[in-house]
Amino acid sequence: NLSEKLDKAFHILKGHGKITEVNVADTLKEVRRALLDADVNFKIAKDFTARVKDKAIGQDVLTTLQPGQLLVKLVKDELTELMGGDVAGINLQGTPSVILMSGLQGSGKTTFSGKLANYLQTKKNKKPLLVACDIYRPAAINQLNVVGDSIGVEVYSEPENKNPVEIAQNAIKHAKANGFNVVIVDTAGRLAVDQEMMDEIARVHAAIKPQETLFVVDSMTGQDAVNTAKAFNDILNFDGVILTKLDGDTRGGAALSIKSVVNKPIKFVGTGEKMEAIDVFYPDRMAERILGMGDVVSLVERAQEQFDEEEARKLQKKIAKNEFGFDDFLTQIQQVKKMGNMKDLVGMIPGASKAMKDVEIEDDAFKHIEAIIYSMTPIERKKPALIDVKRKARIAKGSGTKIEQVNQLMKQFDQMSKMMKMMQGPGGKNLMKMMGG
Ligand code: GDP
Ligand code: MG
Repeated sequence: NLSEKLDKAFHILKGHGKITEVNVADTLKEVRRALLDADVNFKIAKDFTARVKDKAIGQDVLTTLQPGQLLVKLVKDELTELMGGDVAGINLQGTPSVILMSGLQGSGKTTFSGKLANYLQTKKNKKPLLVACDIYRPAAINQLNVVGDSIGVEVYSEPENKNPVEIAQNAIKHAKANGFNVVIVDTAGRLAVDQEMMDEIARVHAAIKPQETLFVVDSMTGQDAVNTAKAFNDILNFDGVILTKLDGDTRGGAALSIKSVVNKPIKFVGTGEKMEAIDVFYPDRMAERILGMGDVVSLVERAQEQFDEEEARKLQKKIAKNEFGFDDFLTQIQQVKKMGNMKDLVGMIPGASKAMKDVEIEDDAFKHIEAIIYSMTPIERKKPALIDVKRKARIAKGSGTKIEQVNQLMKQFDQMSKMMKMMQGPGGKNLMKMMGG
């Protein structure tokens, strides 16, 4: 699926400290391929990666502290932009405000009509009226009645009338006369786009002039969803998209394409069959979901916030002059600890939480290390080479640890200093990784 493919694309960035211009290009090529596989139009995918590349070059990604993560963030931001940037509200200005549902049969119009009515009633203090304009299936009126009953919203229907335009118009009159301030018109759909259905919804649309025309689409239908959206938009010039059935492991690649092809905002998502399973659409959250990045982005943001560049520069100098000692090591640990506790951090790394499920992670994983360092004298911290067997025994005793633990820390410290020297880059930028081996 899309997420796995993007994972592959980002692997190179997440796994390696160093990035070259070559693997930026490679990664973006993979990102483009993943977008194409997810039914994103070729031109959109191409433009997308071109924009990310431009931004990456503009920001000098290659020389920053965490180039891979910065690139991940750029991709995510661009994806957010592609899906509409900001959260789009719905227009409730009319008296009453009329909302027309459109979409294929089975897309979730009737269910969503109920969810929206429930949402407006409970969260926005509105008095909605549901209108049954699906005149073809005998069970349709009944279905809407069941929905209406479950949320305590009145349903307007005319079982004998076969003219949806009249029903909708009568419903609006009924709403005006009875103090309803929102009218939600549920319509009939077909299994595929056909002329008769389009003519009918166009007639209803022209007659009632809704404040909001919403196009409801099943997020599992891939490229078809895009074609359907285009067909409906050509006729109705709708105001927004509702993406249903976004529960389970649907990644919602359709969201990307639809937004770019019809250039209309996605307003809500449906995430289940229950009336409460409705969410306002947040482009940034959707971008994360599509990328399957877990909370990598917020992890990166936190890391960037906490990482003191001044500190990093000082450290770099020390490494260069061979003056890196246990006090600096301690500072690094505190830096990492500031980012959150170990469990939280591990949980944010995609895949890691699953892999680590059975491993008990101590929140205070650094406790022993800190205790050992605190038991060293200032001169020992500065010049670890001084620490001989006798000193080790004293340190172990003072810190309540075993001499093996002191040895282990010395070894880790040694490896880390060597590695830092080798990198000659911004020092200690990923202490955790090095300590974990
Ligand atoms: P309509 O023909 O467009 O009115 O579609 P319906 O509202 O009758 O929905 C068709 C089917 O999809 C029904 O079985 C609904 O319960 C189901 N459905 C609608 N929205 C969602 C959703 O967000 N998640 C899931 N899992 N099922 C949904
Ligand atoms: Mg229906």
